Amino acid sequence: MQIYNGKGVSGGIAIGRIRVYKKRGQEINCISVTDTDKELIRFRDAKKEAARQLDILYEKALKDLGEENAAIFEAHQMILEDIDFNESVEAIVQSKNVNIEYAVFETGKKIAEIFAQMDDSYMKERAADVKDVSERLLNILKGASDEIFISDEPVIIAARELAPSETIQLDKSKVLSFVTTLGSSNSHTAILARMMAIPAVARVELPLDDSIDGKLGIVDGEAGLIYVEPDEETCKEMQLKKQQEHQKQKMLQQLRGKESTTSDGQKVMLYANIGSVEDIDAAVRNDAEGVGLFRTEFIYMEKEDYPTEEEQFQIYKQAAEKMEGRRIIIRTLDIGADKKCDYFGMEQEENPALGCRAIRICLMRPEIFETQLRALYRASNYGKIAIMYPMITSIKEIRRIKEIVSKVKAELKAEGIPYGNLEQGIMIETPAAVFISKELAREVDFFSIGTNDLTQYALAIDRQNTKLDEFYDAHHPSVLRMISMVVENAHQAGIWVGICGELGADPQITKEFLAMEVDELSMSPESILQIRKIIRETNVREYKMKK
Ligand code: PEP
Ligand code: MG
Repeated sequence: MQIYNGKGVSGGIAIGRIRVYKKRGQEINCISVTDTDKELIRFRDAKKEAARQLDILYEKALKDLGEENAAIFEAHQMILEDIDFNESVEAIVQSKNVNIEYAVFETGKKIAEIFAQMDDSYMKERAADVKDVSERLLNILKGASDEIFISDEPVIIAARELAPSETIQLDKSKVLSFVTTLGSSNSHTAILARMMAIPAVARVELPLDDSIDGKLGIVDGEAGLIYVEPDEETCKEMQLKKQQEHQKQKMLQQLRGKESTTSDGQKVMLYANIGSVEDIDAAVRNDAEGVGLFRTEFIYMEKEDYPTEEEQFQIYKQAAEKMEGRRIIIRTLDIGADKKCDYFGMEQEENPALGCRAIRICLMRPEIFETQLRALYRASNYGKIAIMYPMITSIKEIRRIKEIVSKVKAELKAEGIPYGNLEQGIMIETPAAVFISKELAREVDFFSIGTNDLTQYALAIDRQNTKLDEFYDAHHPSVLRMISMVVENAHQAGIWVGICGELGADPQITKEFLAMEVDELSMSPESILQIRKIIRETNVREYKMKK
């Protein structure tokens, strides 16, 4: 048995096989599969799509460049149908019981090498065509499944690091845990792990090779430990811990349907943070009273191109309907920093956390913003949607947002499309917003404090920087004083205020938030009942007196 130590970023015990994941594009993983027929069907479908793409390219080249140049795409079509190419792919899948990506990659490499070794310069150049065709197929296979294929059984994923865009594309039913050699507890991948309620450990010095790949592993997300090939005693101990956790969760289920009210009568709204419509199931299971933060950027990150108004409308409509009349706060696009979308074509930045992100992108590219707003307003007929804007720093931004919202509403009205009266809120996650919260409160219906970014900007610590976790202190007095100030200013203006950063789920500080009279706490669904328990056991007046 080997034991590796890291930083636990999401609690729980996971037991299963370890699968080393290498970034897509860099290398194709060889994965064992049981259903080889399914792989061959994926191959057939990918070929069909490749042929369709090549037809389009041929037509375009014919028009723009003439027949001679367009012929290259005909040659690619021929490679797609080449008997040697096809037989080789099929033989690899069937004889080795492996995934289709690996078979296409290996075949492309092998045939390209044969061409490259030929004396004839024309034939030599065909090596690049074969590579091109296999890359086209691999891209289609990656995109076609919409999800990154890891394994056909649930596994513990070990990787150097996982970008949020990769994490959300993983087939969640196949992921038992994430273990990364880099990563920080405030990154969006860690947040996603907590939202998915799976154990995760970051900054583990794991060898990402055959010495762990395919081996049995146990992840203790709370202790930050990974056991590879655990001995019998450890297995028993961890099974027991897992059962105890399960038991604890079962006990907490008794709090379903109970009020989130302190023993001296202070009511708090306990809401869920979600990243997709599917997450609403966990929110409902854990008795969320509403959704306090729907991170819509994940919708954009899952796609290869901008989601259309109709696609977004369907998602927001479904989410609103699933919440059955409870409030669902949908945050507009918060792309930037670690949440990247290649098709946005953003320039590289020296300081992405201080750069072009969130509302700044929306105001600079209003056509993207308007599409999302139209979808949100249209969906407002199907439930209680509220809109929230991220990364606000000035009144000027709010005024600009209001102008765009008015334009969208006027257009919908002119088109005869009905919409509801949506509450408008902003995230308070920059010190600038904190210090003008008095003025901001007069402009909006509610505030939600984003403590993840607020801590980052207050303490001047990049939340992605893996080495600075020990300095990233969300309990820092400066952060707590800012929260208190925002709550006071909100209440003076007569609006409600919540917390949707990770601090909202921190049981060590719940009483403090109750003392500040925070109106709402929004968190990963699995944390809700634990926080409800603390709320119900607290007497705020007594707590304040003891302080
Ligand atoms: C925050 O910054 O606290 C927040 C909730 O937003 P995100 O983590 O998505 O930046
Ligand atoms: Mg934020």
